[in-house]
Amino acid sequence: MPSIEVCFFETKKALKEAGIAEYEAETGVIFEHLGIGRMKRLLDGKEELSEELYEKLSLMVEKRRTGYPLAYITGIKNFAGFDFKVDENVLIPRFDTENLVEEIRRYCKGKRVLDLCTGSGCIIIALSLLGDIASGVGTDLSPKALEIARENAKRLHADNVKFFCGDLFDALVNVNEQVDQKQDALQEERSSAENERFDIIVSNPPYIRTQVIETLEKQVREYEPRMALDGDGDGLKFYRKICRGAKRWLTPSGILAFEIGFDQADEVSALMKENGFSGIRLIKDLNGLDRVLVGFADLEEKDHV
Ligand code: GLN
Repeated sequence: MPSIEVCFFETKKALKEAGIAEYEAETGVIFEHLGIGRMKRLLDGKEELSEELYEKLSLMVEKRRTGYPLAYITGIKNFAGFDFKVDENVLIPRFDTENLVEEIRRYCKGKRVLDLCTGSGCIIIALSLLGDIASGVGTDLSPKALEIARENAKRLHADNVKFFCGDLFDALVNVNEQVDQKQDALQEERSSAENERFDIIVSNPPYIRTQVIETLEKQVREYEPRMALDGDGDGLKFYRKICRGAKRWLTPSGILAFEIGFDQADEVSALMKENGFSGIRLIKDLNGLDRVLVGFADLEEKDHV
């Protein structure tokens, strides 16, 4: 078997040839995943790689060369300093989304927070771990995504976060359908969530315009869940629905915060204003692109439907 050093070099080369921009960093992540951190590489670089690890490495490199996302290969993505489990059922948490977490962190101490389109649960779990929230709820239409979100909450000990399945706010509503015994506990939790209002609603919903999806890079377009990307013809479907529904679920002085696409600030802030939010603030990401909108409800009791 070749040495660790040689394998590292060959991996970098293979990923570079496959056109992977971050080939150097990704090689580091692959080796970490194999249990060979930077120190080990530097100190024991001349050691042979075991046959078992060599096989694992070859498989990972082959998959990655086809454009399959690295996070799905390792099954892990770091977000806001925590390792989240991910698979093909969830959008891979983005570095850009940390802007939303950073922004909301300063408002959320002791608050009840709702995260719509929670996916892997990364936003609400990070807020629970970093922001000292009173409690959190995440909802998503995909039951498989919620399995991952629940597992993440468990692994990371975000014990005050619950997840419900359904379309946006509908997930919170106690539908009067026949439920089997196993569902009873969940149903009870749901109906208590239904009577609850939230101090903060956050969401990073699917916001890519349908026609634009085909132009995204292969690793996104082919492997990440389409339902986590597609915001319909104008990309605004979820913002529209969330803005309309937010009043029913927010406390009178609640906060609504979104991640947005770089060209959606005007349209989304208009939707927020139309639905009774003011003091809207736009936050840019590190690349200087519009990324987060935060709005403040100022709802009279009479507005409280
Ligand atoms: N809220 C999750 C995230 O930010 C999933 C978002 C989505 O599915 N659009 O990663």
